Amino acid sequence: MRLPLYLSLALALGAQVPPTAKDMAGHVESARLRRTVERLAAFGTRHSLSKASTEARGIVAARNWLIGETRDLAMLPGSRLIPFEDRFIQEPGPRVPKATEMVNVGVLLPALDPSRVKDALVVCAHYDSRASDVMDAESDAPGAVDNASGVALAFEMAHVMCADRTAVNVYFVATAGEEQGLLGAAHLARRLKAEGVNVIAMLAADTVGNTSGPGGAKAGGTVRIFSEGVPAAETEAQKRAREALGGENDSPSREFARYLKRFGERFADQLEMKVMLRRDRVGRGGDHLAFNREGFPAARVTETQENFDRQHQIPRVEGGRTYGDSPAFFDPGYCAKITREMVGAFHGLALAPEAPRNVTLSGAATPDARLSWTPITDPRVASMVVYRRSADAVAWQEDKAVPVGDHADLPGVGTDNFFFAVATRDRDGNESMAVAPTRVP
Ligand SMILES: [Zn+2]
Repeated sequence: MRLPLYLSLALALGAQVPPTAKDMAGHVESARLRRTVERLAAFGTRHSLSKASTEARGIVAARNWLIGETRDLAMLPGSRLIPFEDRFIQEPGPRVPKATEMVNVGVLLPALDPSRVKDALVVCAHYDSRASDVMDAESDAPGAVDNASGVALAFEMAHVMCADRTAVNVYFVATAGEEQGLLGAAHLARRLKAEGVNVIAMLAADTVGNTSGPGGAKAGGTVRIFSEGVPAAETEAQKRAREALGGENDSPSREFARYLKRFGERFADQLEMKVMLRRDRVGRGGDHLAFNREGFPAARVTETQENFDRQHQIPRVEGGRTYGDSPAFFDPGYCAKITREMVGAFHGLALAPEAPRNVTLSGAATPDARLSWTPITDPRVASMVVYRRSADAVAWQEDKAVPVGDHADLPGVGTDNFFFAVATRDRDGNESMAVAPTRVP
C-alpha cells in the first residue's frame, strides 16, 4: 500500500498519525464512565464543607482521588495532557460559613499553534454533591448523576483526546463548590480572564446520566443544551446593536449550542441534541453561568429527564418510594453517547481557524442582504461559510461556502426574514463557531 507523501514523511520522522474525531469518539468506553461514577459515589458525600477526617469519605478524599486520576491521564500512551490544580480559599459567603479551601482539579491539552496560545476551550463538571439541605455536610450525598456523571464525561473526553493535536488549549476540569454557589467555576473563569485567556467556549457537563424520569418517562434519545440568549455581560453598545438586529437568539453562547448540535450529533447513533431557548432550567443555574458573567460563551449539557426523587435528596425509602442519587440510576450507555458527541464537536472546534470578527449585516430596507467581516489573513482559512435560517426557526437551515475575502452578497435575500452568521472553515472541514452580525452600518 502506498501512503500519501505527508504520512510517509511523518511516519519516517517517528511522528504519530494525528487521531481523528471518529477514532477518538469510538474509544469512549461506558465501562470507564461507570467506574468513575461508582468510585465518586463511594466517597459517601462530596459536600464542599465535609470533614477531611478520613481517606474514604468526604470532599478531600474525593479530590485526592481525582488528582490521582489526572496523573494517570498524563501517563496514557502518547498523552499530551498536563495535570493542574486551581487551589483557592473561599471566603465566607451565603453557603460557606467559614473560609474553606476549594480546589478545581483538571488536565490541560496545550495549544500547538504558537499564534493561539491564549485561546482556550473549557469543559467543566462539578464534583461536589449535596444532600436535601444544602448546608448538610454530614449526611450521605452520593451525587452519582449530579454530578459524578459529568466528571466521568469530562475525564473520558480527556482520556480519548489525550493525544489530540489541538491548535488551541483545551481544559478538562472537575470544579469545586458548585452547589455552594458556582464557586470553583467562578474562580476559574476570573482567573482565566485575569491571565488574558480568550475562552472561545465553555461547556458545563452537569447531570448527564439519567434516562428514567418522573413517572417512568424514558428519555435516552435526547439531551439538552442550555445557553443564554441575551449575554449576561452585555455592554450598552452591544445591547443597542442586539436590539437593532433582533439578536436575542444569537448570542455567542447560543451559537455554541448550535455548533455542538451540528457537529456533535454525527458521532453517536440516535442521540438528538435539543438547543433549549433558555439559559438553564427554571430558577436554577450551573457552572456555565459563572463563565457567562466573565463574558465568555458557555453552555450546559444536561439529560432530558431529570429525576427529582434522586437529585439533592438524602438516600432513603419513604412511603414505598426510593430517594437518593445512587449509581444504580446511572445509565453509562447514554452518558457514552453524549461523550462521543462532545468529543466530535470539541475536536473540530479545537482545530478550526479563528472565527471571523466584526461581522456586519447591511442592506436593511433593500431586497439584498450583505454580510461583511474584517478581512481574513490566516492562510489556513480555505473558505467562509454563510449560515442562514428563517427568522422563525431555531436551527440553521442553509449553509453556503463562499470565498474568503471580506464580504458575501446575498442577492434577493432580504435582511428581515432571515437570521445570518458567518464561520471560517479549513481545508479539512474544521469550522469555527458561527458568528452572528453584531453591527449594522
Ligand atoms: Zn449539578
